[in-house]
Amino acid sequence: MYNVRTEHERKTVRMIFYPSLLTKQFGNAESQQTLLFKVPKMDHHPEHKDAPEQALADILAAKDLIELFLKMGKAQELNLASLRDRPNTLFEINGISLEGKLIAHLVDEARRGQGYAYAPYSHFNVGAAILAANRAGEQKVFSGCNVENAAYGSTICAERTATFKAVSEGFRKFHAYAVVGGFDQHVSKALRTNTQKSYITPCGSCRQVMNEFEASPCAVIMAKGTGEIYMTTLNYLLPSGFGPRALGVDAADYDGGYANQLAQKK
Ligand SMILES: [Zn+2]
Repeated sequence: MYNVRTEHERKTVRMIFYPSLLTKQFGNAESQQTLLFKVPKMDHHPEHKDAPEQALADILAAKDLIELFLKMGKAQELNLASLRDRPNTLFEINGISLEGKLIAHLVDEARRGQGYAYAPYSHFNVGAAILAANRAGEQKVFSGCNVENAAYGSTICAERTATFKAVSEGFRKFHAYAVVGGFDQHVSKALRTNTQKSYITPCGSCRQVMNEFEASPCAVIMAKGTGEIYMTTLNYLLPSGFGPRALGVDAADYDGGYANQLAQKK
């Protein structure tokens, strides 16, 4: 078992977001863009369009929440080598803490998955790994790769391959994802080297699918080919995401499949 500690549950809060007023309030060197970057969960509130004073009052009232979001929005930059040196150290990001050995293991598993990438058209090989838990609380890591298709639209990403592998085995509470990617040997060396230096982030469709099964919060770990790691959380990558709760469903409780299993045993 890995030690995964959740320090606070995700807060779903609606509030007014006025970048210029926030900048005024939090002054200093932070640009509006930085604030936008750091405050992912705020909703723009059109009612306050013509009442900036009221908006500011609301913002001041919500100052503690703003500070919470400023904290939530941060990301950690780590290095694979240093994680291996500190296997039992907990690395905290946006309310979830993962052990160094877990982060390294997920990156290793994502790389193993990348080795099986089927990408004869894009030549872009992606690997993903998820730490997921099942109903009994058992944890397991599932890896995946992108699987392209001659009918391009039938292609599936590595993150979703790993997701569907996990869900189809009864593991649907996801604590952490790792994603790696890069071009294969069939493209120019310059292009290959360039992507080695970049983080590969999950596409929008994968973020949406990940959102369906995330534990709250769920870490997302992106690793460069050069070993640097960028760790954040899914609620930051998909702010205000549309999920089961929007339909009034607590998906974690869905037991249709389990009920069928039990019925068949009788
Ligand atoms: Zn994707």
